[in-house]
Amino acid sequence: MHLSEFKKPQDIYVVINYLKGIDKKINIMEVCGTHTMAIAKSGIKSLLPPNIKLISGPGCPVCVTPSEEIDAVLELCKNNKNLIITTYGDMIKVPGSKPNESLERLKAQGQDVRIVYSALDAVDIAKENKEKDIVFLGIGFETTTPGTILALEEAINQKINNFYIYSMHKLVEPALRALLEQPDFDIDAFLCPGHVGAVIGEEGFEFLVKEYNKPSVICGFEAGDILIAIYKIVNQILNNRVELENEYKRVVKKEGNKIIKNKVETYFKVSDDLWRGLGLIQNSGLKLKDEFKEYDASKKFNITLKQSNINSACKCGDVIKGKIEPTICPLFGKVCTPENPVGPCMVSSEGACAAYYKYLVF
Ligand code: SF4
Repeated sequence: MHLSEFKKPQDIYVVINYLKGIDKKINIMEVCGTHTMAIAKSGIKSLLPPNIKLISGPGCPVCVTPSEEIDAVLELCKNNKNLIITTYGDMIKVPGSKPNESLERLKAQGQDVRIVYSALDAVDIAKENKEKDIVFLGIGFETTTPGTILALEEAINQKINNFYIYSMHKLVEPALRALLEQPDFDIDAFLCPGHVGAVIGEEGFEFLVKEYNKPSVICGFEAGDILIAIYKIVNQILNNRVELENEYKRVVKKEGNKIIKNKVETYFKVSDDLWRGLGLIQNSGLKLKDEFKEYDASKKFNITLKQSNINSACKCGDVIKGKIEPTICPLFGKVCTPENPVGPCMVSSEGACAAYYKYLVF
């Protein structure tokens, strides 16, 4: 079924009525933050019976970036006056382990921190500010890595020698494996992110079915896409099927995007990486290969991670792991709000706490 066909209200009613009649308990994890926001915004949760639960997963880039990384970036910013930090918008509000420190606050105190809409903008800033060092904070999953690669290629081709990348890029598969290996993990099926699928392909999610026996559907981001995917998951479970289905065939191919996959292999090496809530996960991050160390901010500025202690009342780790809903966190909506976020899940436009705050609770 194509999305345009599914936009007919009468078809949506059919699916909603079907789902409302299901009394089996089914926990579905939506892996990515874009789905979390789309689900909250469209009111899909309120259309489902209480026994079909949608639970947010570890797919919000800002949320999974650990406080140790945030602290390291803040230190870098404070200690280098000749620096311009460039980053996507959500990152600047994330507090480090000290509650009153963030890139936004450093910017207010006079540090040069700039929001960019693409990594290429950071290269332009480097061209315009040759006397300064420009650091681009590379965060996100398979979907944002290509933008960082474009910027790196531009810097190489144009022989720009004041542009550096601090790569905190992460991979979806190792995080899902880490979650699935947890003894109390209580998820029956997965709604897989279509944009990640566009890069890694259907084959990138096959392990969920083959190794972990979890029905999974790759899904787009319209409300219609998400409803179809939930319907397909429920249908599999009721009929004792365990399959990987691709609801987003208009974008996601079996093998994904080979050009991007090859470029990632060219520029990055897979490394162990630290995740908020999930700890150190083997082979879960992307760092620049040694051949490109002259563009690597971690080498240029000798960035090292130090252990950090976050507010113990913040439950972002449990939210990221799908163990609790945001409203269970004692700080939600009281101490922690979008204006005064305590944890990254309230900051990010893809964070579960922000989605609950904006669309489901207040
Ligand atoms: Fe973290 Fe705030 Fe969410 Fe609590 S409400 S889990 S402190 S972001």
